[in-house]
Amino acid sequence: TAGTAGSYDVVVAGGGPGGSTTAALVAMAGHRVLLLEKESFPRHQIGESLLPATIHGVCRFLGVTGELEKAGFMPKRGGTFRWGANPEPWNFLFAYSPLMSGPTSTAYQVERMKFDKILLDNARRVGVEVREQCTAVAALREGGQVAGLRWTDTDGRAHETRARYVVDASGSNSRLARTVADRHYSDFFRNVALYGYYEGGKRLPGPDAGNILCCAWDDGWFWYIPLTDTLTSVGAVVNRSQIGALSRDPEAAMARFVERAPMIKDYLKDAVRVTDGPYGRLRVRKDYSYAMERFWQPGMVLVGDAACFVDPVFSTGVHLATYGGLLAARSINSVLGGGLAEERAFGEFERRYRREYGVFYEFLLAFYDMQHNEESYFWQARKVSRAEATDLRAFVELIGGVSSGESALIDLDTLKERFGSSSKDLADAVTRTGPAQSESGERMGELFGTQVVTEVMQGMNEIQARASMGGVTTLEKPLFEGGLVASPDGLGWALPTPAGTGA
Ligand code: FAD
Repeated sequence: TAGTAGSYDVVVAGGGPGGSTTAALVAMAGHRVLLLEKESFPRHQIGESLLPATIHGVCRFLGVTGELEKAGFMPKRGGTFRWGANPEPWNFLFAYSPLMSGPTSTAYQVERMKFDKILLDNARRVGVEVREQCTAVAALREGGQVAGLRWTDTDGRAHETRARYVVDASGSNSRLARTVADRHYSDFFRNVALYGYYEGGKRLPGPDAGNILCCAWDDGWFWYIPLTDTLTSVGAVVNRSQIGALSRDPEAAMARFVERAPMIKDYLKDAVRVTDGPYGRLRVRKDYSYAMERFWQPGMVLVGDAACFVDPVFSTGVHLATYGGLLAARSINSVLGGGLAEERAFGEFERRYRREYGVFYEFLLAFYDMQHNEESYFWQARKVSRAEATDLRAFVELIGGVSSGESALIDLDTLKERFGSSSKDLADAVTRTGPAQSESGERMGELFGTQVVTEVMQGMNEIQARASMGGVTTLEKPLFEGGLVASPDGLGWALPTPAGTGA
C-alpha cells in the first residue's frame, strides 16, 4: 500500500453529478479535495432529462451556466404525458409555476457523457484534484469513525488516503455505502428498465419538441427523450417479473414493447436504432428504487444514488444527487470551518435530503397509482407537498424540483426582477399575517400564499437584508423547527438569527 502525495480534508468517491457537485462546493470553501472516479470521462450514464432546479439553482451556483449554454443541449420546457384515463397526451410546462417563470422555466435534456464532464471539469477548475480510472475500495476506520479511503489507481496499485470526510457518490452500485447503513429497497417501485437510442424519431410539435414524452401502456411506460434534433433516448419501464425475458433477448423484448405502445411505435416508425459507439446497445437497469437507512455517519456522507433513488418517471435523479451534494457540502464546510458540531450539521443535511426524497417518493406513488384523470395527479401532488398551492401549481413545483422551498434551487435574481421591489412587502405580508388575513395578503394569497413561495420570499428578503447590512446576518428561516439556515455565501450552515437583531 502506497500513501498519497497530497493531504486532503475530503475524499470523494465518484465523479457523477453528485460527486462533482459536492467536491466543487467544498473546494470553493477553500478545502483540499481529492475526487476518485473509476471510469475515464466521458462515460455513459442514464438520467438525461433534467429539472430547472438543477440548471438554474445548483449549476448556476457551481458557475457552469455558460458552459451549459455553449454545449447546445436540447431545451426542455416540460413534459408530455400519455398517462391515466385521458387517451390524449397532455402537457405540463415548468412555466406554469411562478417560481420558474421567464428564462428559468426551461431545463435541458442532456447527453450525460457531456453534462457530467462539464461538472467534473468544473470541479477541477475550482481546485479539486480529480483522478480518473481510480477506484475507491473501502473506507478506513479509526475508532467509531471513518477516517479515509482505500483505493486503487490505474495500474491496480493500492493507496490509502486519510481525510476528515469521505463522500460516497459512487452511484447505485456503491460498495462503500454499506459502511454507513443498510439499503432498503422499495416494496412499491419494483420495476426494470430497458433502453436504447434511436436516430430519426419523430418530434412533438412546435415549442414542445424538447419535452420529455412519457407514454403509459398496459404493461408499463416508455420515456422518449429528444437529446438532439435527431437522436432520441427511448426506454421501457416494466415490472420486475419481466427481467428474465428482457435479459435473454433484449432486442425481442424492445420490439414487443414498442409494438404495444401505439404512440411510441408511431414516433419510431422511420427511426433506426443506433448500433455502434456508446449508444450502440440496449441496456437494462434494475433494483434502482431504494434508500439507505442513514445518509451519514461520523466521517462519512452519502450523496446521490449512493444514498437513494426513487424512479425515473419524473426525472428526479440528477436533482436529488446535486441537491444532496449541495447539502452535504454545506455540512462538511460548516464542520471543517469549526462553526458547527458534526451531529447538528449532518442532522440538517439528512433531514432536508430525506424530506426531498420523501416528497418525490409519495408523489410518484400517487402517480403510478393511475388515478382516473390528470386532475387527481395534481391533487396528489398538493397533498404530498403540503403546499397550499393550486393543484396545478403544486404539481409543477414538485416536478420542477423546487418544492423544498430551498432558495438555492431557485434563481432569485430572476424572481426579483419579475416581482420587483414588491417582493419584500409581499413576503412580509404572507409571513406575518398569512395570506387570508390582510388585504394585500388576500390579493396575493391565491398566487403567493403557498408555503414554498413564502420560503422563497424569505430567501429573497435575506439577500436584500444581507446586502443592506454588509453580509453579517441572515434572516432566512429554517426549514425545520430548531433547524439551520444557509450561510450568507450559501456554502455552509448558519444559526438562524432573529429578524432585525443584526446579531
Ligand atoms: P452516477 O451518475 O452513477 O455517478 C457515479 C460515478 O461513480 C460514476 O461515474 C461511476 O463510474 C463512479 N464510480 C462507481 N464506483 C466507483 C468506485 N468504487 N470508485 C470511484 N468511482 C466509482 N435521473 C434524472 O435526473 N433524469 C432522468 O431522466 C433519469 N432517468 C433514469 C432512468 C433509469 C432507468 C434510471 C435507473 C435512473 C434514471 N435517473 C434519471 C437517475 C440518474 O441516473 C441518477 O440518479 C444519477 O445519475 C445519480 O448521479 P450520481 O452522481 O449519484 O451517480
